[in-house]
Amino acid sequence: MESISIIGGGIAGLALAACLDPDRFEVTVTEKRPELPVVGTVLAMWPNAQRALETVGILDDVRRCSPAISSGALRDAAGTPWVSFDDENVVGVSRIDLLRLLDAAVPDSVRRITKRVDTVPSGAELPSGPELVVGADGVHSAVRRSVWGPHTGARLTPYLAVRGVVPVPVNPDHVGEYWGRGDLFGIGPIATGTLWFAGYRSGLGPTGIDVASTLEEVRLRFAGHGPAIRQVLAGATPELSLAQRIWRTPLLRSYVRGNAVLIGDAAHAMTPNLGRGACESLVDAVTLAGLLNTRPRAEALRTYDRSRRLRTQGMSLASSAVGRVALAEAAQPLRDRLLAVAGRRKARAAVVSGSSR
Ligand SMILES: Cc1cc2nc3c(=O)[nH]c(=O)nc-3n(C[C@H](O)[C@H](O)[C@H](O)COP(=O)(O)OP(=O)(O)OC[C@H]3O[C@@H](n4cnc5c(N)ncnc54)[C@H](O)[C@@H]3O)c2cc1C
Repeated sequence: MESISIIGGGIAGLALAACLDPDRFEVTVTEKRPELPVVGTVLAMWPNAQRALETVGILDDVRRCSPAISSGALRDAAGTPWVSFDDENVVGVSRIDLLRLLDAAVPDSVRRITKRVDTVPSGAELPSGPELVVGADGVHSAVRRSVWGPHTGARLTPYLAVRGVVPVPVNPDHVGEYWGRGDLFGIGPIATGTLWFAGYRSGLGPTGIDVASTLEEVRLRFAGHGPAIRQVLAGATPELSLAQRIWRTPLLRSYVRGNAVLIGDAAHAMTPNLGRGACESLVDAVTLAGLLNTRPRAEALRTYDRSRRLRTQGMSLASSAVGRVALAEAAQPLRDRLLAVAGRRKARAAVVSGSSR
């Protein structure tokens, strides 16, 4: 039996542990949290992540507890739609439900250790090491810092993300993102009501951010925005809200070094503007498991790096670019005019194609 040590039992680590062949590997998951988290908001699961969840065997369960996000609009701060979308195949899963289902999919043969890992076993960076070490320990990965070097530590972005859930059903006409001057706001459905999120530049934190006072700051900041936003924020409470600064990882030249490999945010933490970080983490996990289950280790790692690095780094760059447009300050009036024109063109094209059918 070959040994695989997965550091981090979050989305990526649990999905990998669930998919590795138990007849071939002795798998250990080392996770610093003693229990699954009880607070969390919602993650958009795009089609590629849904396929990964199907491979893990939990797609139907995820769909059962997660509403579809099939329509919505990109709007200005007042709520006027620029571009509408429908027929999207996205579901909004609660992070807590997702972790619970992934955890239950991990076979009993996987050994679990509750411990914070600060450095990885020496020799992990050498191809001759006996054990494969998988860094699935998120944006501040100890595996990445130990094996790839301290210069690969996470980078703090200037942005704050505040998110929450309001226990009233979402108004379908309000679903979407609202882009203002230097800020964005989002409204979506979740099983227990309405999900909201806000983003803007902030000097708060990076640690110890007080959620109650941040929520007041958010209410003040968005007081002049559209009524849908004010209505959602009126029902928001600190107990059902989270506030955090956004970090990114630097782009790495390889996700593999010797006998160590990175998956998920440890490899490519990105800004949340495209809602893809967890999706790509799931795809990393099922891709790596599929390769390790069927090919010799060195070939599996090479192929994993080739198939996942460019895609995820491209996604990370695209996410930052969308974030800069969404949170534009000086360029906001120009952005708004361009989006209004794009929206009118899209609407005209839809009418023309409808009438020619
Ligand atoms: C505001 C916001 C909104 C987002 N929205 C979306 C979205 O809609 N859709 C989407 O796809 N993605 C979204 N994401 C991104 C998503 O949250 C991450 O990409 C995802 O959580 C990465 O999963 P992971 O398992 O790689 O890392 P994590 O979820 O961070 O898990 C890492 C695990 O490792 C453990 N750990 C860490 N360090 C150690 C250590 N030293 N020793 C032992 N254990 C350790 C942690 O306790 C944790 O359990 C969002 C992110 C943010 C910040």
